[in-house]
Amino acid sequence: MLLKRLFRPILNFVLPKRCIMCGTFTQTIPHSSEPLGQPSLCTECWQNVSFITDPTCKRCSAPLTFDGDECASCYGIEFHFDAAYAPITYNDAAKRLITQFKHSGRSGYTQLFSPWMKSTIELQNNSYDGIVPVPLHFWRFVKRGYNQATLLAHGIALYNKETHEPIPVLKGALKRIRHTPSQGHKSAGDRAKNIKNSLIANRHIVAGKNLLLIDDVMTTGATLNECARILKEAGAIHVDVLVLARATKTI
Ligand SMILES: [Zn+2]
Ligand SMILES: [Zn+2]
Repeated sequence: MLLKRLFRPILNFVLPKRCIMCGTFTQTIPHSSEPLGQPSLCTECWQNVSFITDPTCKRCSAPLTFDGDECASCYGIEFHFDAAYAPITYNDAAKRLITQFKHSGRSGYTQLFSPWMKSTIELQNNSYDGIVPVPLHFWRFVKRGYNQATLLAHGIALYNKETHEPIPVLKGALKRIRHTPSQGHKSAGDRAKNIKNSLIANRHIVAGKNLLLIDDVMTTGATLNECARILKEAGAIHVDVLVLARATKTI
């Protein structure tokens, strides 16, 4: 421990931290307990990350400009998940960070994002039997080398409040059986059609359970809604959604 403290200023000097968004050097705290490899943001970029605060839509977590229960996009829509939560909005800064996280091999960003998601879900005081990452199709997984939702699911590391046991990440709960074209520029209706019947749920893993479904971004909610639908069809009792970033406007 003493050795680590003595070496930290030297390591900080040799390996100064850079902001992952703009590349400027960020200040390091000499005796902080923060791991040396931890990704960090400078003060300016930090301010561009928009943390979601109340009031939010009780169903999709979109920020509300009025004190109510439901946003205009959710009004009259039947979601299969019970509630959705997100720590940040999907603004330009979030888009940049998440694109790097998914497409530039920056899997280490999990260390920055997971604590944000963890704080959001811990505030809810809900209890879950398992955490389910939204799966990638096999070929997309091979191309990327990792599934960002699985990394986030492990990074959140939730514990059961009564037993103090870790809540397991149920990797085999959902499986993609059909490759779906990118959802990027599709309308809400097309996204829902595109994702339909592209996933299967494993009844042996999910039946009778309260689940927390994890993904990086929620835009229209089509993918998460379809995941929740088949999880419930396979016997899951309750499905909540936790994403890193929530689009504030649906397409
Ligand atoms: Zn910066
Ligand atoms: Zn909503």
